[in-house]
Amino acid sequence: MGIFAKIAAGEIPSYKCAENDEFYAFLDINPLVKGHTLVIPRREVDYIFDMEDDELARFEVFAKKVAVAIKAAFPCVKVGQAVLGLEVPHAHIHLIPMQSEKDMNFANPKLSLPAEEMQAIADKIYKEFSK
Ligand code: 5GP
Repeated sequence: MGIFAKIAAGEIPSYKCAENDEFYAFLDINPLVKGHTLVIPRREVDYIFDMEDDELARFEVFAKKVAVAIKAAFPCVKVGQAVLGLEVPHAHIHLIPMQSEKDMNFANPKLSLPAEEMQAIADKIYKEFSK
């Protein structure tokens, strides 16, 4: 099992932001900005565009709900969405609260936040998602 599948299964710890039977959302370990969240299918699939249409549609609807929760927890202009998948071979959507387009630059230096702060960020998003 790959690292993100293990995270979704609870075998590797993560800062959980949202979940349902099919999908899981958690904080990127090295966020571009506070609130940078990854959304994944629990099932192992590498390339997002290999997903069947129905599953991809449900994935995007789930990501939308997470984005709404992120925006409520971390007021921003918009939540940006990006798909790279160059590092981890498990489909994932990056959701990033943006104050400007600069926040979506993946070449920017990444943050490394203390565990307590990561937990507080995830809890805030989870609370909004659960409303
Ligand atoms: P990508 O595959 O989209 O190019 O990048 C993978 C992203 O996953 C990176 O932003 C990286 O910081 C994040 N990442 C890699 N390994 C882990 C991990 O074990 N836990 C978490 N929470 N994020 C990870």
